[in-house]
Amino acid sequence: MSAPRVVSVAAASPAQRAGLKVNDELLAVDGRVPRDVIEYRLLVDEADPELEIRRGHEELTVLLRKEAGEIPGIEVSSAVFDRVRTCDNHCEFCFIYQLPKGMRRSLYLKDDDYRLSFLYGNFTTLTRFTELDLERVLTERLSPLFVSIHSTDPELRARMLRNPRGATSLRWLRALLDGGIEVHGQVVVCPGVNDADALETTLAGLVDQYSDLATVACVPLGVSDYTTDPSMRPHTRREAAAVIDAVEQWQDLCARSLGRRLVYAADEYYLLAERPFPGAEAYDGFPQHENGIGMARAFEAAFRGDASAAHGVQPGFFSWVDGAPAAGYRAPRTDGSAPYRHEDTWAGEPREPGDRSGVAILTGEYGAAVLDPLVRDLAHVRLVPVHNSFFGGNIAVTGLMTGIDVARALSDERSGGRYLLPDVCLSEGRFLDGMTVADLPRPVEVIQSDGYSLRTALQSGGADPARSATARGGPAPVAVALGSTR
Ligand code: SF4
Repeated sequence: MSAPRVVSVAAASPAQRAGLKVNDELLAVDGRVPRDVIEYRLLVDEADPELEIRRGHEELTVLLRKEAGEIPGIEVSSAVFDRVRTCDNHCEFCFIYQLPKGMRRSLYLKDDDYRLSFLYGNFTTLTRFTELDLERVLTERLSPLFVSIHSTDPELRARMLRNPRGATSLRWLRALLDGGIEVHGQVVVCPGVNDADALETTLAGLVDQYSDLATVACVPLGVSDYTTDPSMRPHTRREAAAVIDAVEQWQDLCARSLGRRLVYAADEYYLLAERPFPGAEAYDGFPQHENGIGMARAFEAAFRGDASAAHGVQPGFFSWVDGAPAAGYRAPRTDGSAPYRHEDTWAGEPREPGDRSGVAILTGEYGAAVLDPLVRDLAHVRLVPVHNSFFGGNIAVTGLMTGIDVARALSDERSGGRYLLPDVCLSEGRFLDGMTVADLPRPVEVIQSDGYSLRTALQSGGADPARSATARGGPAPVAVALGSTR
C-alpha cells in the first residue's frame, strides 16, 4: 500500500482551511486506510472527517471541518493506493505487446482493474474479478463498468485472451448485470479469429445471454509493425464491410426485439469499408464515443455549432469521484503550459478581419479522410495528414500520432501560417514518443479535439466556417479525431 500524496488543494476549500498542503501524504481517514480514491471519497464525504497525514518526517492529525457531502477540495496523486491490478491475459491482439521498446514505462502497464473501469472507462476482462469485488461493486454501486467480451464462445474467448479463465469469467458479467450494474461491452474483432461466423455467434450469444448490456462496441484490432504474432493482421475492405453488415443486421433485430440497437460498429470500419457513417441518431446519445463509436458524427454536430456535442459524452462517473487524479484515458492533454501560439505562428502579412489565410490542420490519416469533406470548401484551410511511421502497420488514428511523425510532416511544409494540432495525441503535454510540442520544428496551436474547438479555432481568423461551407453548397461536413489505442 502506498499512501497517496496531495497534489493540489483548492482555494477556499475545507482542505485549505484545515491547512493541508501539497505533498502531504494521506495515511488514514477516521482511522481507516482507504484502498483507492473511491473509498477515500466515501470516507471524506462524511461531516468533519479526521485525516491522518505525513508531512516530511512528522505525522499529524487534521480535522477537516465540512458538511456531509461537501467536497473537501484535494486532488491526490493516484487512483489506486494498493497497486493497480495488472492483467494476467496475453491477448494476441494486445497493443501493448506491439509497442516499440524504449517508450515511457507507464505505457507498458497492462491493467485489468474494475476500479479503473469505473473511474476512467478502461475495459476489464474480469479474469481477475472475485466474489469480494462483486460484493463491493454492488454495495458501492460502481456503475457503469466497461467489459471486454471478444467472444461468447468460452473456448474462443480463452484462446483470444490466452488465459483459461477467459472461458469462465463472463459469469461475473452476468452477476454484474443481475445486480443492476450498467455495463458497456466491447468486442475487438480480429480477422480470421473472431470475425465472420464467430462474430455472428458472439452477437447472437450477447442477445441471448446478455441483452441487458447497455451497449456493445465492435472495434477493429490495431496492428503495428512491432507485432510478433503473424496471425494478427488488419481487416481487408471486404472484411470491414462484413463487420458493418453483421452489426447493422443485429441492430435491426435488437431494435425490434429489445427496443434499442445494443450493438455498434466503430467509425474505423466505415472508413475502411469506404461507407458513409450512420446518422447521429443511430448512436443513441454516443455512450461509447471514447471507444471510437460515433466520434465522426459527434464531431460533425459540434462543428456545425451544437455546443453540447463539443466534447462527446462526458461520463458522469468520473466527476462523481472528487479527488481522483487525472490519469487513465482522461489524463489532461496538455500540461497547462502547452502553447496556444496563435500570433507567434503567423508568418505572413497582417490579417484583415475575416482573413483565415494559411490554416493547416495536422491530423492522422483517418482523421484526414473524414475532415476533408468538412474543410474542403473553406478557403485557405488545408489538411496536413501525418503518416504514422512510428508504429507503422494500420495505425492511422489521430490519437496515436507521435512527435517524430508530426515533426517530419511539419519539416516537409514549405509555407508558414497557422498549424492546428488536436490535443488527442498528447498526454500531459507529451506525445507518445516523449516529444513535446516545443520540440516541433514549427510552432503549432494545440486545440481540443472536438468539432466545436476546431470551428472556434478556424473562426478566430475569420468567418463562421460551418456557415461558409453551407453557403457554398459544400458536402455535409464530417470530421473525426480518432483517439482510441485499443
Ligand atoms: S489487450 Fe488488455 S486484457 Fe489483453 S493482454 Fe492486453 S491489457 Fe491484457
